[in-house]
Amino acid sequence: MVIFRHHSDLNQYLTIRRTGRKSIGFVPTMGALHQGHLSLIAASKAGNERTVASIFVNPAQFNRPEDLRKYPIQTEKDIEKLLLAGCDVLYLPEVKEVYPEGYNKPVNYELGHLDNVLEGKYRPRHFNGVCRVIEALLKSVRPDRLYLGSKDFQQCLVIGRLLDIRHINTEIRLCPIIREASGLAMSSRNQRLSVEEKRIAPLIFQSLQYIRENISCQPFEVLRNEKITELSAAGILVEYLELTSGKLQVLEDAEPGSKMVVLIAVWLGKIRLIDNIML
Ligand code: AMP
Repeated sequence: MVIFRHHSDLNQYLTIRRTGRKSIGFVPTMGALHQGHLSLIAASKAGNERTVASIFVNPAQFNRPEDLRKYPIQTEKDIEKLLLAGCDVLYLPEVKEVYPEGYNKPVNYELGHLDNVLEGKYRPRHFNGVCRVIEALLKSVRPDRLYLGSKDFQQCLVIGRLLDIRHINTEIRLCPIIREASGLAMSSRNQRLSVEEKRIAPLIFQSLQYIRENISCQPFEVLRNEKITELSAAGILVEYLELTSGKLQVLEDAEPGSKMVVLIAVWLGKIRLIDNIML
């Protein structure tokens, strides 16, 4: 695996290797890698001649300074995992390499309703930061395919919109959520959970499963209230629990026959976790 810290070196290296119709798959991450990230590497390897991963903790997408400060950084371990997974190239830039003009410079992206609901509503400017980093990384890597986890479902739609508005010719490949045996969606933030928080965290996915199993016979509102009450009694504070269309239009109740998603964001102590389930 070749590691690059500078955009120009990476670009030059990939330009040479892009000849001969060799496709490039790209997996952007913020590090502290787990099986969820590695499943994206595996999907990229299966569909492309070359796989590029990036590790960059993007300051522009954190709306809470404490979350950024405490974000787990374990680059040495990550490099070992990527080597074992057979990743070809790792891009490991510094902040000034990605944002030569500083990361606070405002850039306007027309994200429409995607920026006003769920994560957009509760994490102001988060998706602006996501768009900024993905746009910069895509300029450096220019991949044929971009591998994203559906755990961050709203982020996938936002990035799809970014590709449309910037006319970027990269295909998105949406990959399934990888979970712990308990059902808890894998996340770099899970490392920061206490033993007690880890014990109750599987209730998040269990609530989503319960809603999926019962949505055809009970109103969503009833199921939502029941689960919010139960989670809160267990010590999990629900920030949102919403039913949406596949395009993330918030729905009052199920629309049988159409693709729907239930999405949740919760707080376990100081840790915020998200999850979702397709219906
Ligand atoms: P992050 O490092 O959290 O920015 O995530 C990098 C990529 O890994 C994103 O596309 C995430 O959606 C994806 N990802 C994170 N957790 C999981 C998971 N449990 N299963 C599948 N993909 C994931």
